[in-house]
Amino acid sequence: TAAAVEEVTTPPVQVSFTKLLINGQFVDSASGKTFPTLDPRTEEVIANVAEGDAEDINRAVAAARKAFDEGPWPKMSAYERSKIMFKFADLVEKHNDELAALETWDNGKPYLQAAQAEVPSFVRLFRYYAGWADKIHGLTVPADGPHHVQTLHEPIGVAGQIIPWNFPLLMFAWKVGPALACGNTIVLKTAEQTPLTALYVANLFHEAGLPPGVLNIVSGFGPTAGAALASHMDVDKLAFTGSTETGKTVLELAAKSNLKPVTLELGGKSPFIICEDADIDHAVELAHFALFFNQGQCCCAGSRTYVHERVYDEFIEKAKTRAMRRVVGDPFKKGVEQGPQIDSEQFQKILRYIRSGRDSSATLECGGDRFGSKGYFIQPTVFSNVKEDMLIAQDEIFGPVQCVFKFKDIGEVIKRANNTRYGLAAGVFTKNIDTANTLTRGLRAGTVWVNCYDVFDAGIPFGGYKMSGMGREKGIYSLSNYLQVKAVVTPLKNP
Ligand code: ADP
Repeated sequence: TAAAVEEVTTPPVQVSFTKLLINGQFVDSASGKTFPTLDPRTEEVIANVAEGDAEDINRAVAAARKAFDEGPWPKMSAYERSKIMFKFADLVEKHNDELAALETWDNGKPYLQAAQAEVPSFVRLFRYYAGWADKIHGLTVPADGPHHVQTLHEPIGVAGQIIPWNFPLLMFAWKVGPALACGNTIVLKTAEQTPLTALYVANLFHEAGLPPGVLNIVSGFGPTAGAALASHMDVDKLAFTGSTETGKTVLELAAKSNLKPVTLELGGKSPFIICEDADIDHAVELAHFALFFNQGQCCCAGSRTYVHERVYDEFIEKAKTRAMRRVVGDPFKKGVEQGPQIDSEQFQKILRYIRSGRDSSATLECGGDRFGSKGYFIQPTVFSNVKEDMLIAQDEIFGPVQCVFKFKDIGEVIKRANNTRYGLAAGVFTKNIDTANTLTRGLRAGTVWVNCYDVFDAGIPFGGYKMSGMGREKGIYSLSNYLQVKAVVTPLKNP
């Protein structure tokens, strides 16, 4: 009920870090400006945070450049780097609950999700990358002629990284982990909605022995701080996660400045396909999770649910019942599955998409409005009879709005599922191995989950086809984003 949201819990944590982190020091922004970060449960200010812009990016890049050129980080033995990263992971693990509380406060996600899944996977990711640090090496190449040929895998230099607000800690780990394992230095720009947890963990990183200047963090806005980073002449590589529209902007800024290589992890409109032979109760639960997880704010959300016509009516009935049972409320309260959306802009945008769905010929099965009267809460919403030409079928809504489509056969559903500008992920639900194989080969998406969804181990690569991005993060594939390959050729005198 709405009353549940009216009395909010006091978060069991304090905000200790609000300044920019440059060259190992927490400092004010050059302009002295700050911006408020809000509690999405109440729309009230949590803290005022130093607002970095171009001048602060310049300072941070200079610190990262110096740390790269003069060391010790890139020149340190890989084992030493690995030990610092392992120690950092241990420290984060010790502060698990505080960090989860800070994440929930700034972002609005359920506390138990942050405490039991996100902070532990952050720790796991850093241990994974710490393990890589001393296993990165080149090859010897059997060349024609009397030459000794080897490749050196060198760090690329100063990495600029821009992250979004939906998983502030995980996005930090996906970006910072591989860059540091490979010996690079970093300037990270956090999302303006969620600046707090990155500063908190960066402090622990320095406690673990990270040398000053290796990891610099600039809080601030996209068109100022973000754009300055993307177009900086002394940044050697750019990694970005966010919307497809902003992805195009940063790619252009990178190209127009110094042609720094760019990896992009962008939007999606991922199909979740339920075949006639699927276990329906399991499919209902997973399709629900695939869409509603994290308030629907996942780039890989299963946001187009395709259901075979033979099981369609049963699915709709059960999906609707499940959505109506979803517990919305203060994310600090036990049992709450869905907290508020991140901010007023997203909240209004989602409500506009819901209105567009209501105005179309799709059927509103449940939800369809805000939840309560304070904070950015939205009712779990299900539309059935959705058709491909509707706006809700094409655009990324990034909210708790499930859109269900009906299909007849596999060939048809592959075509319809691929008929999108995106290609981030897909879900396939069937007991038939041949159907599963046909679908996994036919779908143009960077990840296909079969009879599961949102499984994110550190070693599993993640990234998009088409306008969902370029390059892969996590796993062995992520390392090449942060390495240069140098071929070294020497003549053999006495072959
Ligand atoms: P969303 O619309 O979901 O907030 P964005 O793509 O706008 O997604 O934001 C993702 C990240 O990109 C944030 O850190 C944001 O500040 C940053 N950003 C936004 N606009 C720009 C820009 N013009 N240049 C560089 N970074 C930007």
